[in-house]
Amino acid sequence: MSFQSLGLSEALLKAISKKGYTTPSPIQQKAIPPVLEGHDVLASAQTGTGKTAGFTLPLLHILSENPKEKYRPIRALILTPTRELAAQVYANVREYSEFLNLRSAVIFGGVNQKPQAATIRQGVDVLVATPGRLLDLQSQGIISLKRVEIFVLDEADRMLDMGFLRDIEKVIKSMPEKRQNLMFSATFSKDIKKLAHGILNHPVQVEATPENTTVEAISQKVYRVAKGLKTGLIIKLISDGNWKQVLVFNRTKHGANKLCEKMIKSGITAAAIHGNKSQGARTKALAGFKSGRVRVLVATDIAARGLDIPLLPHVINFELPNISEDYVHRIGRTGRAGAKGEAISLVSADETSFLRDIEKLIDMKLPVQIVEGFEPDPNASTQPIKQGQGRQNRKPRNSNSGGSNKNSGRSNKSRSGNSARRK
Ligand code: AMP
Repeated sequence: MSFQSLGLSEALLKAISKKGYTTPSPIQQKAIPPVLEGHDVLASAQTGTGKTAGFTLPLLHILSENPKEKYRPIRALILTPTRELAAQVYANVREYSEFLNLRSAVIFGGVNQKPQAATIRQGVDVLVATPGRLLDLQSQGIISLKRVEIFVLDEADRMLDMGFLRDIEKVIKSMPEKRQNLMFSATFSKDIKKLAHGILNHPVQVEATPENTTVEAISQKVYRVAKGLKTGLIIKLISDGNWKQVLVFNRTKHGANKLCEKMIKSGITAAAIHGNKSQGARTKALAGFKSGRVRVLVATDIAARGLDIPLLPHVINFELPNISEDYVHRIGRTGRAGAKGEAISLVSADETSFLRDIEKLIDMKLPVQIVEGFEPDPNASTQPIKQGQGRQNRKPRNSNSGGSNKNSGRSNKSRSGNSARRK
């Protein structure tokens, strides 16, 4: 199938070919036609599948085919859970609309609102936003959503995880009842289905899994190690393996900073990305990592959500997550698009129960290695570590609720099973 055969306008085809895309991805093939036909769409797709173009291209097509009056009310709203995702989606909107007479803007918190407000006052057709700043500007009368024709809810599952349900409901109330709705989510829990039921009108359901759909396709390994020796071990692994692009997960912001400092001291370029960093610092860290200037990106789970980091060869869990599903999200960042990936977990005695929960969820025993000089401490307590800062608002999995689906890592069907278990 070609992009031409999907019926997209010449201006969009030009932008697509400028991006270098030749064939629509499965989610684009499935989602673009019903969106162009004006249907509501419920799509099961995660980052890495090409979902952003899946909703952006037809949305831009519809808006540009039906131009409206000059003063440009907001006609399409794309709501995303995180600032990074909003910035990424906006970058896509900009690129795809390069040859169209449409204006777009992005708004999110953590930065000065004045320039955002000024842009909006000049009139924008497409607005990409995170819920907090959107409601803020709305309450100040700077934004009106009364003329929205197309509403996109991106990464709906993350939205709920991050506690945005109320905000979403408020946003929906401020839009016209008659509009087209597109909802994207990687997982389908009961809560997501309920939300979809409330927003969507007879939706067409589409589903796409990334090429690399199973956890088995990712080589996974556990290093048992004494807690105090983890930093030494991770530095040794990265140095000995001469790894160039490594995403390291840490449970806490403080831990991420500390680890980052130690890496830098030992000569490894590293940057941390977490909720306490300013937007500018986060963008800079991510750009440095993507360009290869920064070898190691140390991230917390929430900060890493939705980041588009293509073809990552190595993911290291410096600490295991206490929510098993987060393990699956984390390792899903390696081995994208069929490329080989490696996911390594450094596990100390106090993380034993987390490891057990993860192995239950993915229905797989992970191979264990011990590196000489970095042995686990035989006398250490196996009492679980306390939850880290910033995680208190999330429910840990019920540890009795083991999973049994082999593909639980990346197939949408099994992912929905996973998140249902979280309830
Ligand atoms: P997304 O899932 O929207 O975050 O997209 C993941 C990555 O795939 C991004 O880097 C996109 O630029 C890229 N991409 C999207 N659609 C296509 C396509 N049809 N062909 C090749 N790459 C694509």
